[in-house]
Amino acid sequence: MRKYIITGVQGCGKGTQAIMLAKDFNLVHISVGDIFRWHIQSHTKLAARIQRFTVEGKLVPDELVEEVVKQRLDQHDWNYGFILDGFPRNEIQASFFLESYDIDAVILIDVPDQVVLDRIMNRRLCAKCGLDYNLIFHRPKVDGICDVCKGNLVARADDNPEAVRSRLKDYHQKTAPVLELFKQKELIIKVDGTKDTNTVQNEIRNKLSLIKIV
Ligand code: AMP
Repeated sequence: MRKYIITGVQGCGKGTQAIMLAKDFNLVHISVGDIFRWHIQSHTKLAARIQRFTVEGKLVPDELVEEVVKQRLDQHDWNYGFILDGFPRNEIQASFFLESYDIDAVILIDVPDQVVLDRIMNRRLCAKCGLDYNLIFHRPKVDGICDVCKGNLVARADDNPEAVRSRLKDYHQKTAPVLELFKQKELIIKVDGTKDTNTVQNEIRNKLSLIKIV
């Protein structure tokens, strides 16, 4: 059983890296942002309570985050482990999590703010299957169309300059201090997120002593 947290500034590539790791090591990928986007798309009751925060790039109140994380982990479908993506993002969330779970490692993907700003403004998402694209280094074959399911590619509602700046500020003020807590416990592995996707993935696997090489 492996339990990981993957973290880094928004746009550092943690979603992509988490999916690659989850696939090869049978981990359940739990992305709080994805869960929130699903609620918004499905117009659930929760959607009305979270939408104004996500659109502005603000952190959703802790009690709502804790509710969705608890519900997801309570499904206990993670026989081989899980990788938590985008959580915890502040000290309250970290304490809540550590009350019930332990963790094997925190994967920190290190990318400078200016690089992520450029990446995020070029990020596109398939409205149908959710696949991620980037207009600089992962262009679709046909402009605006998903290679896999032919859905339309759209920008995320929160990928605008104001929301991105707000998320970067929150990361440095609220998330980075939490990492100190994990650092003291020697649980953090830091990788250089400016490299290409496979190089980053291999660095993660090497540092976690996981065997498969991509
Ligand atoms: P992400 O896909 O991780 O960039 O998350 C998208 C948005 O969901 C964030 O900008 C927040 O509004 C919200 N969100 C995701 N995870 C959390 C969290 N752990 N705490 C608070 N808000 C979150």
